[in-house]
Amino acid sequence: MKNRWNNENAALCLNPVALRAYSSRLLGADPNLVLHGGGNTSVKGSLENVFGEVQEVLFVKGSGWDLRTIEEPGFPPVQLDYLTRLGQLDSLSDSDMMKHLRLALLDPAAPTPSVEAILHALIPHTFVDHTHADAVVGISNSPNGEELLASIYGDEVLILPYIMPGFVLAKQVAEATQGLDWERLRGIVLLNHGIFTFHEDAKTSYDTMIELVNKAEDYLGSRTTPSTIAKSNYEPSADDAIAISALRRAAGDLLGKPCLVHMDASAESSGFAGLTNSSDLATRGPLTPDHTIHGKAFAAIFDDDLLLELQNFSDGYRTYFEKFSLANHQCLDLMPRYGVWKGKGVLYFGSSLKRVQIIKDITAHTIAAIQQAEALGGWQTLPQQDLFDVEYWELEQAKLTSSKATLAFEGKVAVVTGAGSGIGKATAEKLISEGCVVLGLDIMDGFADVSSASFLAIQCDVTEQASVASALLRGVIEFGGIDMLVSNAGVFPSSCLLEDMEKDNWDLSIAVNLSSHMQLLKSCIPFLKAGFDPSVVIIGSKNVPAPGPGAAAYSVAKAGLTQLARVAALELGEFGIRVNTLHPNGVYDTAIWSQEVLAKRASHYGLSIEEYKANNVLKTRISSADVAAAAVRFLGVDFSKTTGAQIAVDGGNDRVI
Ligand SMILES: [Zn+2]
Repeated sequence: MKNRWNNENAALCLNPVALRAYSSRLLGADPNLVLHGGGNTSVKGSLENVFGEVQEVLFVKGSGWDLRTIEEPGFPPVQLDYLTRLGQLDSLSDSDMMKHLRLALLDPAAPTPSVEAILHALIPHTFVDHTHADAVVGISNSPNGEELLASIYGDEVLILPYIMPGFVLAKQVAEATQGLDWERLRGIVLLNHGIFTFHEDAKTSYDTMIELVNKAEDYLGSRTTPSTIAKSNYEPSADDAIAISALRRAAGDLLGKPCLVHMDASAESSGFAGLTNSSDLATRGPLTPDHTIHGKAFAAIFDDDLLLELQNFSDGYRTYFEKFSLANHQCLDLMPRYGVWKGKGVLYFGSSLKRVQIIKDITAHTIAAIQQAEALGGWQTLPQQDLFDVEYWELEQAKLTSSKATLAFEGKVAVVTGAGSGIGKATAEKLISEGCVVLGLDIMDGFADVSSASFLAIQCDVTEQASVASALLRGVIEFGGIDMLVSNAGVFPSSCLLEDMEKDNWDLSIAVNLSSHMQLLKSCIPFLKAGFDPSVVIIGSKNVPAPGPGAAAYSVAKAGLTQLARVAALELGEFGIRVNTLHPNGVYDTAIWSQEVLAKRASHYGLSIEEYKANNVLKTRISSADVAAAAVRFLGVDFSKTTGAQIAVDGGNDRVI
């Protein structure tokens, strides 16, 4: 593990809280130390109040902040003596503790202090660093974990048995350190949880953390080889994609809303899934109990009947809940957060991409720790009662439920063609802004470079069936299925009278503007059947109801496409799949409308460019974003009772009205 301290950067920190934020980010930068909100840090200092009195203060990580990105406002100022006195109480309920943590704040607008604030207050050093280092926790999850850690650290580190975080943990540390010489102690290991280091200066506290974790990593290195972590390779098939989309639908039913399913068939994931005892290992428990918040207490196991195996998981989870729950507990949803697909890879489930990413990151670390602990004699986690206590801990559940309102398309997946520019690009952006993830296809060079977490951009010629099939496969492996299709890709061939019609010109328009849409729709139907409120929007054209001379190749293809949409609406209605058509016109912010073409068309009608752009009944200009807004409305719940419809987005056309 690298020591990331940089004296020049540290020197830029003008006060202790700034320095605290700096070294906290160094910890957060290493995923082997902390992941997704794990760990916490603090610094003790003082503040002068409005009466001119100086108060001792603990600046401790606030909830909602992540060590990776934390800044000074992420450390709420808390009255140190208030915390110390809380630590002297015999007992304090979790909800009372949270109430008093807020009462002890010196800034009412500051975030709520970490649930470990009292523990930080009790450690008599200025800087306190706490991480959930994989190597330390991993070793403690083996049969002789405690003895191994004791032999690695000797007596300069205090090792304490696992106890629930919060007030009871603070009490445990206070009691265990009574009469202890803090000057001799360099760290505290909490078994199955993490490690604390501390010092009067930020650098020494950080350096000690890195040094102690390195000792654990070195020990693991001495007991394992590169082959300790199994690696394999698996190429997901078209059948896998169909099976995943059906699984996603059933998982969403367990969750009560649309969800994403992501298949990871990387070398490490398929290697783990290929272990003969992977189903046993993955159901023993997580790396540390607070991972239950994101990943539940155990994984699902999938083999050859995914739906039955999903049912097995939900039955098992309900049994677990009933075994440990008290009267005040409400059972959480029965959807797994990850599952091992025997011989293939790992599947992740989440209501949003963010949730999928969190559990994926956590599981990648867990899988490695499991196999290292196996090399130390066996992967061993806490009893399920301890896991349950943290999973159903009111303070942790509050973190999940306090998150923002759900976006309209959260957990949903759309395919958009022609997504590199114009209407397709605007539609993809609008969907993503409303929580959707999008598989975008476009023939444009370099299109794949615009990919982001929510936007899988694949360069693809929609007239090539094999390319489309492989793009859809990639999309389903990434996101779990397809709920929506915006069939938009098109070309506008150069104007040509029938008398002069060239075969290539005609064929290209029919291939791109008509046949490719049929092929794409056909390929998407098996996925749409398993989709959440599945819906298709076909981008037609004003040329369908009002064709123009010289545009036969375009108008005929778009008319055929409209007829295709009508037949699709009839055929797919019984599966709940809606198919509607938009007829845009005069959308001039697309690639085909250069200034030169615009000027030519405007002068043809004896209009200025500005007049030409608004040459419609409403005298308004129409943008790609206007068409995108209509397309997204059609896809969403507002039109959930509409199929087979055609709507113009053209500012009103007197030949159509
Ligand atoms: Zn912790």
